[in-house]
Amino acid sequence: DTPQVSFNRVMLKISGEALMGDLGYGLHPPTVERIAREVQSVHSLGVEICMVIGGGNIFRGLQGSAQGMERTTADYMGMLATVMNALAMQSALEGLGIHTRVISAITMNEVAEPYIRRRAVRHLEKKRVCIFAAGTGNPYFTTDTAATLRANEMSCEAIFKGTKVDGVYDKDPAKFDDAKRYDLVSYDDVLQKRLGVMDASAIALARDNNLPIIVFSLDEPGGFQGILAGQGTYTRVG
Ligand code: UDP
Repeated sequence: DTPQVSFNRVMLKISGEALMGDLGYGLHPPTVERIAREVQSVHSLGVEICMVIGGGNIFRGLQGSAQGMERTTADYMGMLATVMNALAMQSALEGLGIHTRVISAITMNEVAEPYIRRRAVRHLEKKRVCIFAAGTGNPYFTTDTAATLRANEMSCEAIFKGTKVDGVYDKDPAKFDDAKRYDLVSYDDVLQKRLGVMDASAIALARDNNLPIIVFSLDEPGGFQGILAGQGTYTRVG
């Protein structure tokens, strides 16, 4: 039974840490492959897929600057970390027979395509998974903002933010038994209550363009496909 999915083009945002499995650092290949299979199950329904992967499993700009490194330099290192993650995901997806392009916001022609909007759209039309790497290409931003920016540019219908929990809670569900999950929450509530879905610039950019953010758990097998078919639990920010 193929589930009915009403989305044509989506953005999947995952953190770098989602790729590290139980390791404290870096990449855990079986975890990368598991997530690639989640992408495959949605790709097989004909959905056009954009991806942004963070870099926090390797390097975060704020960490570097806390250790005395210049912030912008540290941020560039963070952006380079996202390129490594994107290449790992590309390799896993291509191992499953899915054509993929890594598109980098920082030019490095030997490794990834430069970002050219029309070209990226063409890839999507040809059902190639586009992994947008190197964030926005600018320091002081995050990959959440990059995901929101590219989702707008690519006319994605929604951003799917895969996390460890099945949505947005009023307090940390790992710490509080009485934490309540929102089914629907407004952008302004996310900002005012500091619900920690994404950073404020990403939320504002989504709000100003009416781009829904769907927060779901990537730990459930088949989760991504299920969520696209409207099954399972999730929070919709919109
Ligand atoms: N980064 C940046 N500009 C961007 C995106 C990312 O400078 O547009 C840097 C920033 O230093 C950040 C790091 O890349 O800490 C890794 O990205 P992020 O923290 O968003 O990764 P995640 O938390 O999703 O793994």
